[in-house]
Amino acid sequence: MDPDIDGLRQGLDEVDSGIVRLIAERRGLIEAIAKVKEQGTSAIADPDRERRVLDGVVAEAMALGVSASLVRTIFRELISDSVAQQARHLNGDGGGRVRVAFQGAAHAYSDAAARKYLAGRGLEGDLTGYRTFREAADALLAGEADLAVLPIENTTAGSINEVYALLRSHELFIVGEETWKVDHCLAAAADVPLSALSRILSHPQGLEQCAQFLQSLPNAVPTTYFDTAGAMQAVAAAGDPTVAAIASPEAAAAYGLAVLRHDISDFPDNFTRFVVLSPTAAAVDTRIPCKTSLILVTRHEEGALLRCLEVLSGSGHSMTKLESRPRPGRPWEYLFFLDFEGNAADPRTSAALDELRSAALYIKVLGSYPAKALRPEARPGDVPGPQADESPAETLEAVAAVEVPAARRSRQYKLVDRAARQADTVIRVGDVLVGGDGFVVMAGPCSVESGEQISGTAKFVRDHGAHVLRGGVFKPRTSPYAFQGLGWDGLDLLVTAGRESGLPVVTEVMAVDQVQRMAKAADILQVGARNMQNFDLLRELGKVDRPVLLKRGLSSTIEEWLAAAEYVVAQGNQQVILCERGIRTFESATRNTLDLSAVAVIRERSHLPVIVDPSHGTGQRRYVAPMAWAARAAGAHGLLMEVHPDPDQALSDADQSLSFDQFASLMRQLAAVPGSPPPG
Ligand code: PEP
Ligand code: MN
Repeated sequence: MDPDIDGLRQGLDEVDSGIVRLIAERRGLIEAIAKVKEQGTSAIADPDRERRVLDGVVAEAMALGVSASLVRTIFRELISDSVAQQARHLNGDGGGRVRVAFQGAAHAYSDAAARKYLAGRGLEGDLTGYRTFREAADALLAGEADLAVLPIENTTAGSINEVYALLRSHELFIVGEETWKVDHCLAAAADVPLSALSRILSHPQGLEQCAQFLQSLPNAVPTTYFDTAGAMQAVAAAGDPTVAAIASPEAAAAYGLAVLRHDISDFPDNFTRFVVLSPTAAAVDTRIPCKTSLILVTRHEEGALLRCLEVLSGSGHSMTKLESRPRPGRPWEYLFFLDFEGNAADPRTSAALDELRSAALYIKVLGSYPAKALRPEARPGDVPGPQADESPAETLEAVAAVEVPAARRSRQYKLVDRAARQADTVIRVGDVLVGGDGFVVMAGPCSVESGEQISGTAKFVRDHGAHVLRGGVFKPRTSPYAFQGLGWDGLDLLVTAGRESGLPVVTEVMAVDQVQRMAKAADILQVGARNMQNFDLLRELGKVDRPVLLKRGLSSTIEEWLAAAEYVVAQGNQQVILCERGIRTFESATRNTLDLSAVAVIRERSHLPVIVDPSHGTGQRRYVAPMAWAARAAGAHGLLMEVHPDPDQALSDADQSLSFDQFASLMRQLAAVPGSPPPG
């Protein structure tokens, strides 16, 4: 071994043990906080504070060149551990040994999730794997185990029906939930090429979560096995190098297999949610954020389900999951599994449950338990606080709310018409909301040119307040000899830069056959000005569940633009963000004439969000900042701007691209411009 490596590894070991010591120190502080909270009545989870902690550490990470998504993942786990630690305090759980049943062989995901759950509750466990979910549940009822930890849903493959069936047929209660990030790998007895594989073993869920990867293997037949880790065990025992298995890298290592390919899930964010079952229900302190799960059969009346759901929404309970399953022995009748945020020990929730009992034909409360799987909250975009000394418009007051005249209906469109919907449409992109009262900044180069260019720009614009990263990879260029973009390779670079900096990405889609593939990777699909009336493209975009950024055509009227948006919305996709980017007029001093009056008109005529692109709108970088401020003052919901590390060398739209310094100063001053309140 190289002596230098030894020295470096020693350094690494020291850093690692330092990290562990810091985690222990952090837990010590949490313990002290828990003691203080024990005396009070306040809730232990504070989403605002959690968000501030995450924002703070992510900003610090970025300054040090560490990936935002890595730091966010680590801190989400730390925060969730802290909440569990405090919950344990309030609930008086402390220590002890429990017997836990799970399905699968040792090192199965269920095994890992069960250990994580026990650690969170400060419990020691004796874990036993069973062949099937039913055997694990039966062991619990037979008194062979105190708890069973079973998977109930996966974020890629969906609900695990067999476990829902057990909840219906067995007298079991849910006392907890746990989440596990599934990280599938492909492993075999020897390091063979993928083309040599004839069979791939895994649990049906594992096969389903890697379906696209499996399709790419030329000769291998997917074969179901009772468990992921068990499949690895079987592959190791058989020793046939043409048979591989899908499970966690930990299982591969435990059974001595060679990993042929890491990260083979079809979607990178692949999580499984587990329920922790007990033969008896458990009460949870009301200061702990909880979920309640129940089985519901509705009455045989019209609107019966709606009435049940109204009981929950009317009493301020937010529903997190609704699953419909067949009612055994009753063809074409259904029962519902419903999860909502609330705790049956809380009088408000128990009153709602009583009301639900009379609205429904049958309910069975499966339990109230500390919530772990909640989608992160989104918030409206905004710009950093004002810097008085740099105000471009210190005397400006917020412009008056747009008056919405008595319903006027267009003949060209109806769904996007304000008359069809008074409230602003608000669209979630990553964890930021576009529309309504928020102001969202999308920034980045005209074209993605290299990994370094896009990653560097991503970090810079994020640090200076941008919410979304832009970058074209398929470019609509006037001349066929001009740079046409990096295509799909560019998209990979853009998505990587977005992940590293924690920003969602927007990029242009030019053709119908690009839509489906692009929708899998990009967070917003942009329709360029030249394609505003490409009706086939618009219709295809109406079929995907992805926000669409629709630029105004070079010579299109506002009515034509809204009619184009109607093409997307009429197909079912309501997530359209309009973007004013300048129109062709006789004026030649600027590349286009930026029509800011369109913002006021759109806000009056439509409920869709409208943002402004001052880069294409003017074509000259010195005009971008004033037009950006004006757009905010006019009531736009945000901006789309071109920023480049070396603008003069940009491969497209060099003249209008801002330098980093220009972007930073524009953003500082933007905060001093009041935005417009929503139409009232
Ligand atoms: C772009 O945003 O890079 C672009 C090509 O814009 P537009 O379609 O408005 O010209
Ligand atoms: Mn451009």
